[in-house]
Amino acid sequence: MKYLELVKLVDELNKKYSASDSFNMLNSLARDFPDLTMVSSFGSESAVLLHQISKIDPAFPIVFINTGKLFNETLDYKDTLKSELGLSNIKIYQPKLDLVQKEDPYGILHQNKPDLCCFVRKVEPLSRALANTKIWITGRKRFQGSDRSDLPLFELDDMRVKVNPLVSWSREDVDKYFREHHLPKHPLVEKGYLSIGCIPCTTPVKPGEDPRAGRWRGQIKTECGIHNATFQQV
Ligand code: SF4
Repeated sequence: MKYLELVKLVDELNKKYSASDSFNMLNSLARDFPDLTMVSSFGSESAVLLHQISKIDPAFPIVFINTGKLFNETLDYKDTLKSELGLSNIKIYQPKLDLVQKEDPYGILHQNKPDLCCFVRKVEPLSRALANTKIWITGRKRFQGSDRSDLPLFELDDMRVKVNPLVSWSREDVDKYFREHHLPKHPLVEKGYLSIGCIPCTTPVKPGEDPRAGRWRGQIKTECGIHNATFQQV
């Protein structure tokens, strides 16, 4: 599909689903777009969309990027949700070994070149994961603050349509959904981690801070690159 066609499609989708709830929208999109793929970090709020997806089709394709720097609690949580929700199609992507050996042989690239580290460990694996996908789902929400406060429902990113089904949900909506559906929480949430990524770049959040304030704390960096980068093959 060409660029202008994608722009038109995004515009149409934003109009068509502006008043839909997330479950019905996902159900409809799954029927209309066979390559629809969800990307999940299995972080603090991920269970909401994973639960909805599991009700539509337990074999729905879900991409998980294991950067090699994740908390063991996140890997355990992935297994818990996989089992409890019956998710049967989680595809795990990892950084290319030769690229890690070239750019991050000592595992400390995040200290002085975090953008390159994110590219090696997140952006490049995701580019492979989405190579045959034109439309993918994220769990981003406006209330998460920072660069996310004016997110649209559908957006165009690197010649793909990106869907943010929970964009207008509040913190309270997420908590209520967890309660109503008896969803297990990520084990680090009770320790103050409201947004959970790699170990070296994630800290707990203090009361009153944005949920993502604990990510890359003290740096100007606010996103890992998968939401603001042009995917490239290296
Ligand atoms: S979040 Fe930190 S450790 Fe993880 S890929 Fe990015 S810079 Fe590297």
